[in-house]
Amino acid sequence: MRIADVPPLVCFCETEMTQTAYQSRIPIYPRSVKGRFRNIKYAVLALAYGVYFLLPWLRWERDSGPEQAVLFDLVGRRFYVFDLVVYAQDIFWLAGLLIIFALLLFFVTGVAGRVFCGYFCFQTLWTDVYILIERLVQGERNARIKLANTPWSGNKVFKIGMTHLLWISVAFVTGLSFTLYWGNAPVLIVKFFQGEAPFAAYATTLFLTATTYVMAGLAREQVCTYMCPYARFQGVMFDKDTLIVAYDEKRGEREQGRHKPSKGYMDREERIGAEVGDCIDCGYCVQVCPVGIDIRNGLQYQCISCALCIDACDTIMDNIGFPRGLIRYTSEKALEGQKSNPLNLKNIGYALVLLVTIGLLVWGIAHRTQVEINVAQFRQPLWVMLSDGRIQNRYEIKINNKTSHAVKYRIDMQGLDDAEVDLAGNRIVEVNPESSIKLVAKVNQHPSRAERVRQDFYFVIHQLDSSEPLEEHRKTVFYIPEKLFGSHDD
Ligand code: SF4
Ligand code: SF4
Repeated sequence: MRIADVPPLVCFCETEMTQTAYQSRIPIYPRSVKGRFRNIKYAVLALAYGVYFLLPWLRWERDSGPEQAVLFDLVGRRFYVFDLVVYAQDIFWLAGLLIIFALLLFFVTGVAGRVFCGYFCFQTLWTDVYILIERLVQGERNARIKLANTPWSGNKVFKIGMTHLLWISVAFVTGLSFTLYWGNAPVLIVKFFQGEAPFAAYATTLFLTATTYVMAGLAREQVCTYMCPYARFQGVMFDKDTLIVAYDEKRGEREQGRHKPSKGYMDREERIGAEVGDCIDCGYCVQVCPVGIDIRNGLQYQCISCALCIDACDTIMDNIGFPRGLIRYTSEKALEGQKSNPLNLKNIGYALVLLVTIGLLVWGIAHRTQVEINVAQFRQPLWVMLSDGRIQNRYEIKINNKTSHAVKYRIDMQGLDDAEVDLAGNRIVEVNPESSIKLVAKVNQHPSRAERVRQDFYFVIHQLDSSEPLEEHRKTVFYIPEKLFGSHDD
């Protein structure tokens, strides 16, 4: 059944009151197919599954910190990605990464249409595996249709039950693997099955198990057709140069339309002579389509550009000795016989902005500071007067050592005449790897030495025992109460 054959969801016709606003899902039983694009999809699937399921188990040597190569440590407020440690304050990198993904999507969609949907999207990858399981347990398309239409029996209960059991197992492993990214995987998995893992681990696994099962097993193409926002707006990124999966209507139909191979319409010369198209109306392209559409009806928003219909049609063309490419990757311009270039000005613009953004992010990461220093002045009270007449302001200095080794820092003060800083013996401090310390600095100055009521000055933090000497300045303010400004020490 083709989506195009489905009646409209809502009928405003007053005479046909039997029409309902609800259209239940028409089950799709995709047939298997072999070919170039199917092989590419299997390769992407194997790579994506390999990375997703194995990455939490990959160990990584660090001078300090966890041994897990990729770990999202929420409690420690840092993410470990191989040698890169991302702190909470580096969150703008995430914004950069999201912008890069968005630009990449614009560029790829402008050049090659919905290629992301067809090959890389989680929904497509997981649905592919669920269809494989379905086929493994229930058989090829015809066997599955037959099983669905037979009354319930022991055999049917077993096959349907086994399919759902395997689906739920894949969903559970998917959910659990995601959870393992957020803790030390070998320890967390043991605790998980001993019932000693944090509640969040069980909640996350349960949520992802349920969503994977529902999305890939039950909802399937409806996620792409009705739920995915990208499916709705990707059309605006298309132009007449964009590569799409399309049926060559001129060749497939000619003057007299498609025709099944029969006497007088067997070989290509006969068909061309009779003005009959190359499409033999076998329906294979429709049967393999995971979203259940007929590509011969033209470009449709449900199409995820998976190219399986190309493989199907190429198989048929090979079998009957016709040239391949009746369904192929092409563009609207190329179909109209015009010259087409997917790398047009718009897409080159996307590529340039993308490259600049990637360059900025890489530069930002490469030039990140190895130390994070914050100085905050105590406001309650803003100042106190000491018994010797001096005014005291207090500051909290926070030093965050982002390196993987312990570092010594010396703290000095600059720009405040005749003032003293009291660090309670902590002028030189050692900060452990990937740790931070907080110090209280008391700065004292007599009002007679003050140049203004509000004086700017700097805390200077020197990194010691480092091959690359580092000196960080943090500007702050020293306040003298107005009524005491300029008063003399007697
Ligand atoms: S029409 Fe072809 S490319 Fe589009 S979703 Fe169906 S099989 Fe994939
Ligand atoms: S697979 Fe090719 S020949 Fe068969 S119906 Fe589709 S377009 Fe026509």
